[in-house]
Amino acid sequence: MNTEQLWQAVLGELELLVSRANFSTWFKDTSIASYEEGKVVIRVPNAFTQAWLEKKYHPAIIKALSNITREVVKDVIYKVEVVRTSMHAAAHTPNTVALPTMSQLVGGSSSHQQFDTQSNGINRKYTFDAFIVGKGNELAHAAALAVASAPGKTYNPLFIYGGVGLGKTHLMHAVGNKINEQSPNTRILYVTCERFTNDYIHAVRSGHGKEFNDLYRGVDVLVVDDIQFLTGKEGTQDAFFHTFNELHQQNKQVVVSSDRPPKSLASLEQRLLSRLECGMIADISQPDLETRMAILESKCQERDVVLDHNILEFVAETVQSNIRELEGALNRILAHRDLHHIDLSVEVVRSVLSTVRQVQPQQRSFNIRSLISTVAGYYDLTLDDLLGKSRMKRLAVPRQIMMYLMRSEMKSSFPTIGQEVGGRDHTTAIHAYEKISREVQENEKMRTDIELIKQRLYTFAV
Ligand code: ADP
Ligand code: MG
Repeated sequence: MNTEQLWQAVLGELELLVSRANFSTWFKDTSIASYEEGKVVIRVPNAFTQAWLEKKYHPAIIKALSNITREVVKDVIYKVEVVRTSMHAAAHTPNTVALPTMSQLVGGSSSHQQFDTQSNGINRKYTFDAFIVGKGNELAHAAALAVASAPGKTYNPLFIYGGVGLGKTHLMHAVGNKINEQSPNTRILYVTCERFTNDYIHAVRSGHGKEFNDLYRGVDVLVVDDIQFLTGKEGTQDAFFHTFNELHQQNKQVVVSSDRPPKSLASLEQRLLSRLECGMIADISQPDLETRMAILESKCQERDVVLDHNILEFVAETVQSNIRELEGALNRILAHRDLHHIDLSVEVVRSVLSTVRQVQPQQRSFNIRSLISTVAGYYDLTLDDLLGKSRMKRLAVPRQIMMYLMRSEMKSSFPTIGQEVGGRDHTTAIHAYEKISREVQENEKMRTDIELIKQRLYTFAV
């Protein structure tokens, strides 16, 4: 079996276990150097990544490797090999390893250069052709297509939201690709919210505010992915607000995505929220069985493989929650087949998938700590704030939600909950649980927030 395929399958599995940001920081530019009798050498781009993988992800990597190879992996070594395309060097501090710079973005090496269409961030793989339309995503698909056909003229901004792995990023790239195809001179820029934030911070620190503005305000189409990460970052929000206004006034297209609807982005400034809401808001929801089947079929075609209908059906029935996992399952199955040179049957597939983490409430794998940090992450609060004494509404409501989830998802006792949440009395925990239970019934926003937090909890928290 080809080590590259093996590593891709391992990465697919790891991706489900860690956050997007962590994943791209730590697993970017990694590969397998060799794989022999349970001994694996993994290439990493710098010493910092090496140390981090050893310290934080070693067990997960071993587990994923064993799962996929179905062999006992005894020994994994991380070897630093400088990848030429990577700008990161071993001497970098932790922060800069995680933060790509604007000079990379504009394609320059050290100084800021002119806008470079080669690095517009668009991934050619994600096209409309490769996107399967079903009930859950037809609105978002239609809106994206409309925007791509007449950028700046139909829906501006286009706001796409939906849970993890449902195709938001894919659609946004598809918009970019289609525009590129129709009018190659249109300047498109795709960035993640993280990238935007880092560029902004870097620009402020290094006195390159003008380059930042030139870059972001000089495009015809600006695509910003995962803008929920703007919450709690006031300076960056401001920068985004002004960028947005400038582009919008010139009828330049803006496309953004988020894991939740605008009204649930509670800590965004009101003026920015109302701007974001003034265009088209389209959601993507979970795909139905038919769509999952169609997606699997198309992914098989892309890879030039044919699988029995029974097998596809089995996979589509087993993996329901999101498309990234569906693809991950397919990758594992194919890796298994190639590694062991066997014909696939439903039985084989069942056993391959039996080790996949099922995202089901009964099989939770998080603990109280991860619940707390998930809630803190969702609301962009520090643990001290969340567990502290302040009764400000901004802190008190997330705290109550956290207590509610400890009860509803973990069945913790009220005294334990009180204890965990900054040593509070059990009556406080009961009050919180009852209050949030009521609000879940009555208040749609509360319901959405809780759903999204749960989704993060069951998808990412370990
Ligand atoms: P999100 O950004 O919503 O988390 P992504 O766009 O990254 O999700 O999608 C996850 C994976 O699923 C990608 O590989 C993407 O190509 C695939 N995918 C999502 N939706 C579809 C679809 N409708 N048709 C084909 N592939 C899809
Ligand atoms: Mg995405």
